[in-house]
Amino acid sequence: MLLYACNEGRQRHTRRYPTTVVFVIISFTNVPLTRTTSATVCALCLRPEPIVTSHLLPAGVYRLLRDNERRNPNPVIVGETTSTQTADQVAAPLLCWDCEEHFNNRGERWVLQNCFRGPGEFKMLDALRAAKPLHPLDEGAVYAGAQIADIDMDSLVYFASSVIWRAAARTWGYWGSREQLSLGPYFEDFRLYLLNPWSFPVSAAVWVNVWPVPVMLSVLPRTLRGQGYRHHNFSIPGITFHVFVGQRLPLGLLLACAARSSDRMVFLSNDMNAALLQGIARKVLGSRPTGSLREK
Ligand SMILES: [Zn+2]
Repeated sequence: MLLYACNEGRQRHTRRYPTTVVFVIISFTNVPLTRTTSATVCALCLRPEPIVTSHLLPAGVYRLLRDNERRNPNPVIVGETTSTQTADQVAAPLLCWDCEEHFNNRGERWVLQNCFRGPGEFKMLDALRAAKPLHPLDEGAVYAGAQIADIDMDSLVYFASSVIWRAAARTWGYWGSREQLSLGPYFEDFRLYLLNPWSFPVSAAVWVNVWPVPVMLSVLPRTLRGQGYRHHNFSIPGITFHVFVGQRLPLGLLLACAARSSDRMVFLSNDMNAALLQGIARKVLGSRPTGSLREK
C-alpha cells in the first residue's frame, strides 16, 4: 500500500530544501510467512515479560508524516490498489518494555532526530554537505561515515537492523494485508546482534543512502531478490536503508557496508532512489482513492 497527502501548506515555509508532494507507505512484497511470536514472551530477549505494542516503523515517523496545517493532517496510505488517509499505524505486540527502550536508545532516537524532518531540517544531510566526500558519483557522492563526527554510524546500522528484524519477527497486519519479511537462517544472528551490538552478522551488509532532494515519505520494509542473497530495504523521510543478507554477498556490497567497512560508507545519491520513486509514482497513479480522498 501507499498513501499520499499533498502538503502545499508547507511550501510557504521552504527554506533550503524542496517541499514534498506525497507521503507514501508501500507494503512488502509477498514473502512466505515463516515465524510467529507468542504475545507473552519478548521476541528479542525471550524473557516472559509483559509485552507492549511495538511499531514496525517508529511512531516518530508517523508524526513526521503528519501535516498539521491541513484540515486532515493524517498521512495518505497507498496500497496495491487503493489509497486512503488515516491515523492508523502498523503496530502489534512484540517486545518487552526494556527491549523497546533498547531500540529507542541505540538507534531510533538519533536517526529520527537527524533524518529529514521538514523544510530546512535535515541534520544528516547538513553533516554530509560539510564533509569531504571519498568518491564522487554521477549524481551525489560516497562519504566515509566513520570520519564524520556528526554522524552516528552505530545508530544508523542498529536502526536499519532493528526495523528489518522487526519485520521478520512476526506477521504485521495493516489495511487489509498480513505481511512478514523473511531473514531465513539469519534471523537469530540479527536477534543476537540487537541484544549485543558489537557482533554485526557476518552474512549481512548495510547500505545507508541519504536523499540529496529529500521527500517526506516512508516505505515499509520489503524484499528484493539478489543473485544468491536477499535485499531488504525501507525508507524513512530522507534516508533509505538497504540490508543485504546471504552467504554469497558480492564483494562490492561488503566494501561499501556501513557496519563493517573501514570507512563505514554513506551514500548521498539520487540515482539510487530512481527506481523506488518510479515505483511510488506508479502506485500513486494506479491506486483508487477511498474515504475522504475520494472527495478531493
Ligand atoms: Zn525483551
